[in-house]
Amino acid sequence: MTLSLRALTKSYAGRLALADVGVELPAGAYTCIMGASGSGKTTLLRIVAGLERQDRGSVLLDGRPLDGLPAERRPVHTLFQDYALFPHLSAADNVAFAPRLLGVRGPELTARVRALLADVGLDMSFETRKPAAMSGGEQQRLALARALAGEPRWLLLDEPLAALDRPLRAGLRRLLRDVTRRRGLGCLHVTHDPEEALALADRLLVFGGGRLLAAGAPAELYAAPPSLTVARLLGEVTPEPAGDGWLRPEHLRLEPPRPRASEDMSPDTCPIGHAHPSMSSETSHSPDNLTRETAGADRPAARAVGTVRAVACLGDRWEVEVEIGGRVHLSRVPGAPACEPGQSVGLVWDRQRVLRFAAPDA
Ligand code: ADP
Ligand code: MG
Repeated sequence: MTLSLRALTKSYAGRLALADVGVELPAGAYTCIMGASGSGKTTLLRIVAGLERQDRGSVLLDGRPLDGLPAERRPVHTLFQDYALFPHLSAADNVAFAPRLLGVRGPELTARVRALLADVGLDMSFETRKPAAMSGGEQQRLALARALAGEPRWLLLDEPLAALDRPLRAGLRRLLRDVTRRRGLGCLHVTHDPEEALALADRLLVFGGGRLLAAGAPAELYAAPPSLTVARLLGEVTPEPAGDGWLRPEHLRLEPPRPRASEDMSPDTCPIGHAHPSMSSETSHSPDNLTRETAGADRPAARAVGTVRAVACLGDRWEVEVEIGGRVHLSRVPGAPACEPGQSVGLVWDRQRVLRFAAPDA
């Protein structure tokens, strides 16, 4: 069932929270809305759920307007950050709630509840437990089982993982993807976390100030964002050394130290457009992969030299701040870099990776 949002507009006390949002969400796909806090994500979800009324525009399911339907009659279920479970009911009764309303009883109900709990990784020992006796991650699993039990056509998710610790978040993110894909359930998931949005989405919508700024496949939007605002919402960017473009920090690499480094480690940048002499694959002192990889006519490389300002371990990668002519550039590398603050270091990047934007964002 395709969900169509047409020209949705909503103001609160004269301030626009949503401005003319129009988008088609294909059935069975996982769509993520990614935007900073206050960008209108919850407002949009609440309008689709029927919990809020838009000023203008329409929500349609397979071409039929939902606008006149109250929330409880819409074939959608919302999963909230704070789980919104029934606190006085056991886990089993939370899950049984919707099937009971649909008339399911007896052994069929028990079997259905058990299967749903198992689907979200909760074993039988949870059946009699109340939400207060469950951890945050377990409660969110239960909330997901309860959502699935009502067999909604669409699942709406409002920052469902935001209250969880990082390791739990990753596990639940994969569970969400697996459980909803298996059922072919359409999902509209809003989050301010780019990692979550990029990992989950078949299709990613980027929001800013109540407007839809970009839509597309996650990897494509990350690699080729249409504006600096979108680029920054999806991850960090760093200025291109000696240029007016931008780079993802993982595309600005450190040149390994060379044996005869002292003679060309001046703080000046090399002219862009000419590979540095040391980068020719012909040179005898280029034992490192990096030098060879960036050389060659088909992979135009650029190089600049700067001074290391700081080195930080981010866990799965390292971040090095390099200053060139008063500007600081970020390089992210997979392993511990062989440099220290105060040292000169060469930065290399592939010119095809440079992001350029037509005009400064409003
Ligand atoms: P997000 O979920 O992206 O953080 P929201 O949709 O909650 O953003 O809010 C968008 C804007 O609308 C914000 O400026 C917020 O303060 C405002 N807003 C949201 N709900 C209300 C409300 N009930 N009354 C007044 N302003 C609201
Ligand atoms: Mg919100």
